[in-house]
Order: sequence, then structure tokens, then C-alpha cells
Amino acid sequence: MTISAVLFDLDETILDRSRSLELFLTWEAAEYLNLPLEECERYIERFIDLDDNGQRSKSEVYSLLWNEFGLYEHTAEDLAAHYDDTFNRFCCEKRHILDAISLLRSKGYKLGVISNGRSPFQENNLAALNATELFDTVLVSEAVGVRKPDPAIFHLACTKLDVTADQCVFVGDNPEADIAGANNAGMFSVFVPTRKYPACAHANKVCRDMRDLPGVVIDASSETS
Ligand SMILES: [Mg+2]
Repeated sequence: MTISAVLFDLDETILDRSRSLELFLTWEAAEYLNLPLEECERYIERFIDLDDNGQRSKSEVYSLLWNEFGLYEHTAEDLAAHYDDTFNRFCCEKRHILDAISLLRSKGYKLGVISNGRSPFQENNLAALNATELFDTVLVSEAVGVRKPDPAIFHLACTKLDVTADQCVFVGDNPEADIAGANNAGMFSVFVPTRKYPACAHANKVCRDMRDLPGVVIDASSETS
């Protein structure tokens, strides 16, 4: 089958979320919360731990930090809202991914994003990377009411792009939501290893360096025929 579309996860696939979060927290601790220098590092580590790769709500994270670090000049709700408004200023891309995406676009592939997360928070993060225009469709779970790994969100992307699932490559870092999800939806899956998920046995292909991605996508056409 000829591959005609490439779909991407956002966090840790297009957006270097860990690095972006570290940059945000470094600024927040020192400049916004004015924590003593010796507390900053502990604050950053504690936030990252409580955040659990974005699994825990920011209101809950800040409620816990509020007591521990005596953030009494703010409320936990205000801090969560401030996070939502400010995080995108620190967004940075996963190395080489935007070049790879631009190259795929110039070769005529249709492109899309499927992200589990909040709307418009995720859309704003993509926009902060100046990447929105590269994609023909951007689906965020909160906005469309269905989440990966549900095949419905993968098939919705197919409808938007006017392609069938077997014409799609899906690129992501989460073995369950992204890779099992894409496989079950009938797509060719490309796994991007991260510190949290270093391996995934059920992926069709693994891509460690995004400079290799265009070649992986082109080869997928022969592997799926
Ligand atoms: Mg991800």
C-alpha cells in the first residue's frame, strides 16, 4: 500500500516536553515565584515528579507544591492558570523533527497531529513551535471527545485527510496510546524511544534520530505492500 499521510503524536514526539518543562520551571522558580536559589532545584525536581509526565492535573500539582514550598502569595488555581498561559513561551521542538516534517510536506504527504490533552493548551504549544501551518489537521482529545488508543480518533484523522488507515504512518513515543493504538486502527507505526519508554516490541519501526524519519516513511510503502 502506498503511504500518503503521516500522523504525529505531540508531546515528546514533536514537542520536547521534558526540556520545555525544565525551561519553564527554571524560570518559574527563580523569576516568578522568587524562590531562594537553594530551593529552586528541589522545586523543579518535585514538580517533575508530581507531574508524572503530564498525567496529573496542574491544579493538583500546585496544591501539593503550595504547602511544601509556602507559595502563599498565590492560589493553586492561579498558578495552574499561569502555567496554562505561560508554558508555551518555553516550548522547544524535538531535535530535527520540524525539518523532517517540512521535508515530508514538500514530498506531498498529508500531515496530521493526534494529541491526548487539553484544548486549546495543546494547540497553543504547537503554534508556539510555528508548526501549525505544516499540518492539514490537528486533533486534540479534549476537543474531539475521544482519546488514543481508541481507534475512533485515528479514523477521524483519516476522514479529515481523506485517506484510509493503511495509507497512514503514525509516529509516537507511547507504546500503548500511540503504537498499539495506531496498530489496532490499521496504521503503520513508528516508535520514538524516550527516557520514559525506551523500547516497544510491537512497533513496525523504531526511529531514534528524526533525520531518519523521511526515509522510514518512504520505506514503509514497500513494507506494507
Ligand atoms: Mg507523547
